[in-house]
Amino acid sequence: MSEDGNTLFKRRLEALRGRFDAELPQRLAELDSVYEAACATADADALQQLKRIAHALAGSVGNFGYHALGQSLLQLEREATRLAAAPAPPDCAPLRPLLAAVHAARAQAPTPVAASADSGAARQHAAGQTGQALLLVQHDAASGRALKLQLEHFGYRITLHQEAAGLAALIEQGGFDLIVMQMQSDEGEDSFAGIATQLHRTRPLPPLVFISDRDDFPTRLRAVRAGGQSFLPRPLDIPSLADALERLAGRGQLEPLRALIVDDSVALSEYNAALLQAAGMATRVVNDPLLVMPQLREFLPDLVLLDISMPGCDGLELAAVIRQHPAYVSLPIVFCSTEARISALLPRILQSGDDYLFKPLDPALLVATAVGRAERHRTLRTQLARDSLTNCLNHTHIKEAVHLEVERAHRQDAPLSVAMLDIDHFKQVNDRYGHPMGDRVIRSLGHLLRQRLRKVDLIGRYGGEEFLIVLPGTAGSDARMLCNQLREAFAHIQHLWENESFHVTFSCGIASFPAQHDAEALIAAADSGVYDAKRAGRNQVVLRS
Ligand code: GH3
Ligand code: MG
Ligand code: MG
Repeated sequence: MSEDGNTLFKRRLEALRGRFDAELPQRLAELDSVYEAACATADADALQQLKRIAHALAGSVGNFGYHALGQSLLQLEREATRLAAAPAPPDCAPLRPLLAAVHAARAQAPTPVAASADSGAARQHAAGQTGQALLLVQHDAASGRALKLQLEHFGYRITLHQEAAGLAALIEQGGFDLIVMQMQSDEGEDSFAGIATQLHRTRPLPPLVFISDRDDFPTRLRAVRAGGQSFLPRPLDIPSLADALERLAGRGQLEPLRALIVDDSVALSEYNAALLQAAGMATRVVNDPLLVMPQLREFLPDLVLLDISMPGCDGLELAAVIRQHPAYVSLPIVFCSTEARISALLPRILQSGDDYLFKPLDPALLVATAVGRAERHRTLRTQLARDSLTNCLNHTHIKEAVHLEVERAHRQDAPLSVAMLDIDHFKQVNDRYGHPMGDRVIRSLGHLLRQRLRKVDLIGRYGGEEFLIVLPGTAGSDARMLCNQLREAFAHIQHLWENESFHVTFSCGIASFPAQHDAEALIAAADSGVYDAKRAGRNQVVLRS
């Protein structure tokens, strides 16, 4: 991760931790009341519940640096498990000192979090959002409203604030993913930049972008001192601003990392899944090694956690089968087994796996290993699958995505739509404003699609000025409505060239499953929809039935 990425990441983590800290008392109170209930009823169900809460909490507190608290919760969980398994009516007394230890550990300040083990948590948090929340600080009402409107086309949720009064409180109250701030000519403490400078000294702020009428060194320096991470002079090119915002918020990398957990023990695999989920990973558990291959194809994991001792097919054999497939040659495989068994099998383990962990698994080590391995794999895969201009999927990968989604739609008997977007008269954009400006227009469309579509939608650059989007679970008529919204938003974006501004439109064809039954037919039908839209005058959406 770059220095910038790291700082950002830590900031996001701090924000998450703040929220977690605020929730912690309530969760511990819940633990207390379940403990009281368990003592009162002396039944195994209440103990099971206590165990579950302690377990879940242990998984998450570790992520926020409460290591002592995590340990004491695990002890509580272990004891509750032991008591729940005891023949009859359980005696809760042994839990009391452990619960007291939990509260004592709560008082200890958390240690700083290790970035690698926690990136998933931040990722998951961000993945749950729709449009990002942006605070726009602009003194001038008219230009503030105009800029708000432009950014809303990209899908941001905007709060416009116009006065120095109340600005510090608004920022401190939090809840913003990004801040865009006007740089005023006034340099005093009560200027926007002055307020940001004071806040920035004492606490991390969300990524901050300055826009300024002046572009000179002293002004840029003021922006830096106020914590500004990007600086854009007026006249403002909105797609460049959107680019800067996307870069700062790291939106492109927010999909959770996926771990496939293969272990014949249901309890153990669920436990490991819970630990990895608490670190922000998406998990899938397979308890029968013979069922792994279809799951690999469907779930597309970034990592496989593989138990060695399993009936039917052991982990080493399974890894060898996985590696026979060219698509999985570089998929990280982490073996788990007891220390003795790993030592005995080490040469074979290193041949087909990337790493190994001793059972019983150390939770922190499991999370650090899994997240680290998966992240590296994701980065590599992303670089190969992405188009470098737009950061959308490239031609090969978006086509592959259509195939996978059609398979899934078949299995789940769910609707699916595919839309092809082709920019209108794009040759004229190039001819009139030059190729680099054309590139910027293409990027702005990619950016708009990323901001406005859901996480589950797939966006690819199909060709030069053509995009293909895949909308799972979306019927044709809904896709048409959505694409019309995208079309209008894009048509409203102001592209700036020297002192001239211009607008660009696209034409769109949509095809849906099950009317079109396979991937190739869907793409061909969407493409012919584009053709019809062009013939009918462009800047419109055609749904092929
Ligand atoms: P229509 O409305 O019929 O789609 O007209 P058009 O001009 O958009 O269509 P045409 O397919 O004739 O031209 C597309 C142009 O896009 C031609 C090509 O030079 C340009 N182009 C393709 N890829 C890129 C790119 O990556 N960057 C830039 N700037 N231009 C590109
Ligand atoms: Mg074209
Ligand atoms: Mg075109």
